[in-house]
Amino acid sequence: MISKVLIANRGEIALRIQRACREMGIKTVAVHSTADADAMHVRLADEAVCIGPPSARDSYLNVAAILSAAMITGADAIHPGYGFLSENAEFAETVEEHGLAFIGPTAEHIRTMGDKITAKTTMRALGVPLVPGSDGALVDIQAAREVAEKVGYPVLIKAAAGGGGRGMKVAQTADDIEEAWSVARAEARAAFGNDEVYLEKYLDRPRHIELQILGDAHGNVVHFGERDCSLQRRHQKLLEEAGSPALTDAEREEIGRTSTEALARMGYRNAGTLEFLYQDGQFCFIEMNTRLQVEHPVTEMVCSVDLVREQIRIAAGEQLGYTQKDIKMSGHAIECRINAENPETFAPSPGTVNVFHAPGGLGVRMDSAIYAGYRIPPYYDSMIAKLIVHAPTRQEAIARMQRALDECVVDGVETVIPLHRKILADPTFQKGDYTIHWLENFVAAQTKS
Ligand code: ADP
Repeated sequence: MISKVLIANRGEIALRIQRACREMGIKTVAVHSTADADAMHVRLADEAVCIGPPSARDSYLNVAAILSAAMITGADAIHPGYGFLSENAEFAETVEEHGLAFIGPTAEHIRTMGDKITAKTTMRALGVPLVPGSDGALVDIQAAREVAEKVGYPVLIKAAAGGGGRGMKVAQTADDIEEAWSVARAEARAAFGNDEVYLEKYLDRPRHIELQILGDAHGNVVHFGERDCSLQRRHQKLLEEAGSPALTDAEREEIGRTSTEALARMGYRNAGTLEFLYQDGQFCFIEMNTRLQVEHPVTEMVCSVDLVREQIRIAAGEQLGYTQKDIKMSGHAIECRINAENPETFAPSPGTVNVFHAPGGLGVRMDSAIYAGYRIPPYYDSMIAKLIVHAPTRQEAIARMQRALDECVVDGVETVIPLHRKILADPTFQKGDYTIHWLENFVAAQTKS
């Protein structure tokens, strides 16, 4: 039984988790930095504890302060949300050592998947197809050259500890490999304190397709179909869809079966996402995220499931209570991430939201923690809202998103809403005919014109 959950996060995801808890009759504890004293997640929680100064390192990443807050308030479980401590195996371990439930996978699985090289070796052994590349870490530049010759240029040098698109460099030809090798390693060392790198063939026109998985502590594993997250800028997702306009039912079924079988053999528990690049009908695993993802609402809309509620039930030791054949995808869902950024330069635009009006109506969902008068602090991620729509067909979902974006008012700061409008109106997007490289080119063309 879980009766009080401490949410070790902020912003829209803290609210999202509170909502599930409230509907389940579970009390919530918010934690916050001094910069977030007026935040909505603090106002709406049953209890709130200040855990430190604005810098995330001293507050939302401060394990001792978060655990103390859980002890003082008598919480019996911690939900990490996404980002911050959500993929920190030591944190998960410490939470459990203190007798609390960690609402997520085991520390061992977080650790295995947190190292992308180990993740790939593990998945290969479980029969999941990979992007062609090096078998493990590259020992030196000579090894990088040899693998690159074998798989063929262009290639990508990637950090084993990578995340957020950092520590990743393309070498178009043999002339670039030395630079890609040293830049990727330097970036990896600076960002993750670990300069281990590996090499993958750089796919020229893949889609990013990911599978949402849930497993319980009793060996049951199911998937909730795919999300297409190909619309990215600097390897960061901007707009996501469920399902993918590119997949057939047979392809979905096959990758779903491969993924759930692999995770069942691992004994995977709680929510996880297997990320693939998909090109010419082939799926290639790139990484696994051992947490709830930003874009989870599109899956919730098409599958009529509350993924956070399921995460909490699983952490409490309950059985899933359903099997794969009970899960049906219906209609189409789209999510637009609304970042407080200049829509052309993407420079962050913190400041005060003077006017805020959230769109509504049939099939419209706004996950946000902002309000009129809210001051967006400069210390954290620039995403201030997620607008999600659901409709019977993709075409109707696009029209609904366009209508919802027209209703949305965020005054006082710049947002990427104008860019979303342009994307939704574009014939190539409307046809669903895009790859992971499409948005960068689209943005470049917009800025030129
Ligand atoms: P991170 O953990 O930093 O997000 P990922 O491995 O998930 O890194 O990759 C992020 C994005 O980078 C992918 O969604 C894709 O757009 C691009 N990418 C990664 N690997 C490749 C590859 N081998 N070829 C082409 N693009 C890639």
